[in-house]
Amino acid sequence: MENNYSEPIQDQSAVQSPKLNNPSNLNQNQFFCPVCHQPIKPEYYFCPNCGTNLKETLGEISVWTQVGIYFISVFLPPLGFWPGVKYFMKQNPQAKKIGIIAIGLTLLSSIITIWLIYGESINYLNTLRQSLTGF
Ligand SMILES: [Zn+2]
Repeated sequence: MENNYSEPIQDQSAVQSPKLNNPSNLNQNQFFCPVCHQPIKPEYYFCPNCGTNLKETLGEISVWTQVGIYFISVFLPPLGFWPGVKYFMKQNPQAKKIGIIAIGLTLLSSIITIWLIYGESINYLNTLRQSLTGF
């Protein structure tokens, strides 16, 4: 009687595929077709399910858009932070990279701006003190 019950349990474990055992593997480094939302690989040129040109849809960020984002990041530091975060949140690896660069440039530019303003105000206070004590 006991042997009859133990056998189906063994069969059940054998049937389970490794994919079902760790669903976390499916979510990591997984990209989806923007049209039919089927899982795709980032190196695919066309969606195997619906035939969408993936390089065109995923790579829609033009050079001028990138230049604009970097320009804002460098010259208008706080404003560059938002497109940076927006692009960073996207699944497209190119957009992610642009986002990281934009955030990096924004932070760098902010630090330089604060440092320059700090330096200028120290200079201003020094000259102010000198002119006041000079009298
Ligand atoms: Zn598709």
